[in-house]
Amino acid sequence: MTKKTRLLVILLSVVMTFALSFTGCKVPDAPQDDSADTETETNAGIDYMALVNKESSLPDGWEEALQITTITNSVGDEVKTESKAYDAYCALKEEVEKDLEGYEGGEVKLELDSAYRSVAEQQKIWDDFMEKYGEEYTTTHVAVPGYSEHQTGLALDLYFTIDGNDVYENEDLVQYTDIWEVIHARLAEHGFILRYLPGKKDITGYAYEPWHIRYLDDPTVAKEIMDKNITFEEYLGKISSHAATVDYGTSELYTQEEMDAAITEFKKEFENWLGCELHSVKYAGDECNSEENIAWLNSLGEGKDYTQVIEFITDFHSPTEAELLEGTAWEADKEYTDYQWWLAREDGGAWELVSMGYE
Ligand SMILES: [Zn+2]
Repeated sequence: MTKKTRLLVILLSVVMTFALSFTGCKVPDAPQDDSADTETETNAGIDYMALVNKESSLPDGWEEALQITTITNSVGDEVKTESKAYDAYCALKEEVEKDLEGYEGGEVKLELDSAYRSVAEQQKIWDDFMEKYGEEYTTTHVAVPGYSEHQTGLALDLYFTIDGNDVYENEDLVQYTDIWEVIHARLAEHGFILRYLPGKKDITGYAYEPWHIRYLDDPTVAKEIMDKNITFEEYLGKISSHAATVDYGTSELYTQEEMDAAITEFKKEFENWLGCELHSVKYAGDECNSEENIAWLNSLGEGKDYTQVIEFITDFHSPTEAELLEGTAWEADKEYTDYQWWLAREDGGAWELVSMGYE
């Protein structure tokens, strides 16, 4: 390195450090280490690939081994995150904000809503909900203490500010699909995955949450999961006992991957049927892709030029009387069988749900 370039590098790093301090990431408000008894202790004690969901609880000794970084976010809340995941978040934030420069709504800044929650804090949330809303509501909306991924410190809920204004509420956040697209595209390279994918509620136990990301500490694994559009459960081969069984049958037309893409697509609609539980999915067979059916779905899809059709037959259970929403067509607490889902795609296009119901 010549003297000149060395000077340039030093100058550049000074500028970079200066720029970084503005993200709020390099200077946490109150950096602290909740667990470490010694300076040399690292987070070797935690398994970054640990699965915590409604069926798998936090591994023993987790809270003792966890090292935490604490910051204050834009709405003034204190947020705690596992330290390595926090550093990865800072790198993610920097890149996402750069990607979003020139966003039409104004300057976008990534923020952290909630990350680490102790078992005691989760217990408090649980108790508050039980008192306010009762058991039925609580069990469907709040993770049982010990079974929330937030207790790992590796699960982060994101939000953002646009032009200095907080976009904080879930119902507002979901509107910004363009911003989420930019964020999600950067996750894997920093070792994060999107945890609760659309159309996978029967596997993860949660409906789509664009803001909930999970740190895995391994960009290669994260990239494989994100590229395949699968859940962490599917990657680990630990499918929930509530997940629908799938019978792919035999097909000369479609690979299992193509069928999975179609199944995920119709499940996005099914997830809106509150309280309904999908039990089984069966591929209807290659004869579903008949000229007649292609013409039928084209007649339903306005301006579409579908060239392929796929059909699935499902069994599902309707909600109990107490859970049944007003105005829904289902009889309470009944097993519906052979319910059909029809999807189609144009040449080179993705599957679209076109029709469903009983023929
Ligand atoms: Zn979350």
